[in-house]
Parts: sequence; C-alpha cells; structure tokens
Amino acid sequence: MEKNSEKNLKLGLFGGTFDPVHYGHINAAKEIHNRFNLFKTIFIPAHIPPHKKIPTTESAHRLEMVKLAVLGLDVFEVSDTEIIRDGNSYSFQTIEYFKKLYKNKIEPFFILGIDIFLEISTWKNYPYFFSESNFIVMNRPGYTSIKPEDILPSDIASEFDYNHEKNSFKHKSGYYIHYVNVTPYDISSTDIRAKIKKKQETTSLISDKILEYIKINHLYT
Ligand code: ATP
Repeated sequence: MEKNSEKNLKLGLFGGTFDPVHYGHINAAKEIHNRFNLFKTIFIPAHIPPHKKIPTTESAHRLEMVKLAVLGLDVFEVSDTEIIRDGNSYSFQTIEYFKKLYKNKIEPFFILGIDIFLEISTWKNYPYFFSESNFIVMNRPGYTSIKPEDILPSDIASEFDYNHEKNSFKHKSGYYIHYVNVTPYDISSTDIRAKIKKKQETTSLISDKILEYIKINHLYT
C-alpha cells in the first residue's frame, strides 16, 4: 500500500480507557507514530469498553485528561466519537467512522497493547476487522515471553502469512498485524489509581497537569 499519498493517509487509531492517560500511552504512541510514519494518531477514549470492566471515572473526565496529555503534540488528536456514540464502544464501528470521515482516503492502523490483543477473539464482529484495518500490537512488560507465532487466535491463523524478519502477519486482505517492541514502560492506569488513593508519588508516571486535574476533580480518592 502507498505511503501517505493524498489518497492514502496512514492514520493511527489508539483506543483505550485512559483512566487516567499516562506516560506509557503517550511515549509508546510517539514511538509508533514515528516508526510507522503515520500522518496523524488519534486517541479515542472509550465510553464503555465491552471487554473491560466499566470504568469508574466519567467519560468526560477521561476525555479531558487525554486532551491535556496531547496538548502541544501536533501529530496527536483526540476524538470523542466513542463517547458520544453512547452504549458499548465497538472498535469496528470506530474504524468505519474514521474511514467515512476521511472519505476512504486513509489507511487505518489500529494501535493496541498485547494484553488487549490477546482478548481480540471476544470482540464484536471478530474477525471482520482484520479485513478492514492494519493492527499495531505493542509489547508490554509482563508479556515478553509470548512468541509472535502465538499471538493469533488459532481459528484465523491460517488467514495470515508470518514474516519473521518484519515480525508481522499479512492478512489475505492485504492488511497487516505488526507485532512491535516499544521501550518497556512498566506503567498502568490501575497502578496509578491505587497510588493516588494511597497518596503515593506518581510524577514519573503521569504529567503534572494531569495530576493537577485529578486533584481539582477529586478523582481516584
Ligand atoms: P488499566 O490498568 O486500567 O487496565 P491501562 O494502563 O492498560 O489501564 P488502557 O487505557 O486500558 O490503560 O490502555 C489503552 C491501550 O494502551 C491498551 O491497548 C493497552 O494495552 C495499551 N497500553 C497501556 N499501557 C501501556 C504500556 N505501558 N505500554 C504499552 N501499551 C500500553
């Protein structure tokens, strides 16, 4: 597929709960953005993520925190499409939404961590979206022992050709799943929420402006 020609903009779609957004998200997204020469990466906070427990923090707060996190980072944007869609946040609808928005002139790259990708067979409309988007699966501390050959659900593995050198899987549709190592950031939102509750230090995990937002709005206490 062409690279960022006018007809084919490489668009990163990074969904998540972001409760709260942290340096793991931002730094990994920066690495992916540069490595894949994306034209833009859009952060998409989920309203109700179907494969996670319902977040305790209101969508509006999670959205606001992501907006603060990308402030000044020109290649990043935030979308409220899943939040205003209401109900469950299904990724296939999000991919369709952005294709329509860009009048089919984008090549989507759906970005997610290995922890989430390993649950992909439980997603609505699985395995339809492998014919609709590329996937970038980021490694994450705690998952390093998983071999690339083992990340695909077995019922669809035959639909892909694995390229050892590139560590990517080519789907019969022409789209790819890229399994990539990003600098390991041993950071999770769960850990941050627990630390804030216990009034522990979080300055190496989230930015000051987000910590300030959390304090002002009495989140995670
Ligand atoms: P929680 O602890 O509440 O489960 P989280 O830290 O995993 O949250 P999410 O908002 O669920 O954060 O993550 C959004 C996406 O970013 C997911 O696909 C997740 O796998 C990925 N991700 C989160 N943290 C990291 C990290 N430190 N390194 C790489 N990917 C990450």
